[in-house]
Amino acid sequence: MRFATLASEAGFRLGIGTARGVLDVARAAERFGTRVPTTIAAVLEHGVAELAALVERTLAAEASDGLFVREDRAGFGPCVTHPEKVLCVGLNYRKHAAETGHPIPECPVLFSKFNSALAGHRAVINVSSQAAQQFDYEVELVIVIGRVARDVAEHEALDYVFGYCTGNDLSARDLQRRTSQWLLGKSLDGFAPIGPFLVTADEVRDPDALGVECRVNGELRQSSTTADMVFGCASLISYISRYFTLKPGDLIFTGTPEGVILGYPEPQRVWLKAGDEVRSRIDTLGELAFRLA
Ligand code: ZN
Repeated sequence: MRFATLASEAGFRLGIGTARGVLDVARAAERFGTRVPTTIAAVLEHGVAELAALVERTLAAEASDGLFVREDRAGFGPCVTHPEKVLCVGLNYRKHAAETGHPIPECPVLFSKFNSALAGHRAVINVSSQAAQQFDYEVELVIVIGRVARDVAEHEALDYVFGYCTGNDLSARDLQRRTSQWLLGKSLDGFAPIGPFLVTADEVRDPDALGVECRVNGELRQSSTTADMVFGCASLISYISRYFTLKPGDLIFTGTPEGVILGYPEPQRVWLKAGDEVRSRIDTLGELAFRLA
């Protein structure tokens, strides 16, 4: 299934992507008089079974058009709204480590972002009023945890995944490199866009074999595959769960491939600026777009 957070003036509403558009779950539940989870947090807690039945029922019903929002007209919030933790992995692709002048890490390089950095598909992200200049993109596969995971073995780690989404670890390089800790340059408001959809793990055959792309104003900048990750998804979950208890809804940004602006020779670096449109796409998961302002 493909879960979305629909954003409207009234707030966030749970949506499910279907061939007929994005189903407004609360409205459908009301129409059919059923009780189902109506937030992504509730889905993570209660599971997807009742929702799968509701989608089937709605698609089969006549005159249910009003329950769907056209995807190209929908407003999106972040597809996970309140994770307890947003973990990120640095330098997790060999060529990206090389382009930034770092050795290939011997263990995962971890940092984090705050929830206030989350944003959704088609977000407008403010850079003009930031005290920074060197804005850079990083398309990343994002893991969404589905079950409490503590000290799990690598061979069972993927059983703890609820699903995956496309993300971008937007970065202000001047702030990131000001001190040895990257947090400042990684967690500005809106600098963790995710979505449009959180796709459940059953729809993703192999998270370590997905094509990954990033375009700026239509120009291809990053093109790789998650097969190039130094530490694959299972290895990351197992490693992280040795130190932190992972909870349903926790996000893991798994790192970015080569092609970021920081990797260009210095005279050729043209940082992102207000007006730029960034499109990040991952196989099966879909395309996340945002604009800087
Ligand atoms: Zn990153």
